[in-house]
Amino acid sequence: MSGVAPSAKSLIADARRRFETAGLADPATDARVLVCGLLDLSPTVLLLDGEKPLSPDTVARVEAAIVRRLGREPVHRILGQRDFYGLDLALSAGTLEPRADTEILVDAILPHLQRMVAAVLKPEIADLGTGTGAIALALLHECPEAEAIGIDISEDALATAGLNAARNGLAERFRTRPGPWFDHTPEIFDIIVSNPPYIRSDVVTALEPEVVRFDPMAALDGGLDGLDAYRAIAASARSHLRDHGIIGLEIGFDQRVDVTQIFDVAGFSLLEERRDYGGNDRVLVFAPKLY
Ligand code: GLN
Repeated sequence: MSGVAPSAKSLIADARRRFETAGLADPATDARVLVCGLLDLSPTVLLLDGEKPLSPDTVARVEAAIVRRLGREPVHRILGQRDFYGLDLALSAGTLEPRADTEILVDAILPHLQRMVAAVLKPEIADLGTGTGAIALALLHECPEAEAIGIDISEDALATAGLNAARNGLAERFRTRPGPWFDHTPEIFDIIVSNPPYIRSDVVTALEPEVVRFDPMAALDGGLDGLDAYRAIAASARSHLRDHGIIGLEIGFDQRVDVTQIFDVAGFSLLEERRDYGGNDRVLVFAPKLY
C-alpha cells in the first residue's frame, strides 16, 4: 500500500491475505462481507467505486475491524448485525448469533401458522430463549396475523429482541418477557418455538473460538447431557399450549431420539422432523397427544 491511499478493493485483498495466513475457514467471504458491511457498500457500488481512495479515518476503522476478526470475533458480531430470514437483526453480548440452520425451524413452522390463521385468526406464539428475537420475528414478518412473546433469562437479550422488533416494524405484535421458560408467562399459546441451549457441557468449551468466546454460554450449554432445556420445556409446555397447538424445536445433530422421548413422556407426539443443510437432524415439531 506504499504511497497510494487504500481503496475498498485493496483493503479487501489485504484482509483476505491476513485471514488466510491466520487460518480462518473462509477468508475471502469474511474479508468481503466485513469491509463491505463496514463501508456500507453494495456489490454494485463495490464494482463501480471500489478503487476510490478512502480517508485515513475509514482505513483506520477497517483496520480495527480486521484486527478484531484476527482475534476470532465473528464478522457479524463486529458489524453488530446480521440477516435472518430477510430481517436485519442487531446482535448483542447476551444473544446467540442466529444461524442459517435455524431458518429451517421457521420453514417448518410457517405452514402450521398459516393453517392456524384460518382457525384462530390471531395465532399466539411463545419463543423460549428468544435471544435476538430471530425465530419469533421471522414468523411475525411472514404472518401478519400472528402475535408473539419472546422470553429470555437475559435482560440484554430482551432489550435487543425489542429493538429488533422495532427495527423491522414488528413492535406492535411482539412483546418480551423475562424467563426462565414459562415462569413469568401465564398465557396459553398456539405455537411454542425454541432454539434452546443444547450443547453438552463437556463439549461446549471445545467449540470454535468464534462460538465459545463470543456467543453467550447461557445460549449454548445444555447441561451434562445437553438435554436440560428440553426437559424443562417439556415439563411446562402442555399447560401453555392449546389442544390444536404445536411445538417446534431446534435440536443438536444427535438428539432426535432423546428429545422425542422426553416429549413423548410429557404427552406429545412427533409430527415432523427436518434436517439442516449439512444433512443433520435439526428440527422437531410436536403436537399434543389428544386422548
Ligand atoms: N447451533 C449452535 C452451535 O452449534 C448451538 C445453538 C444452541 O445450543 N442452541 O453453535
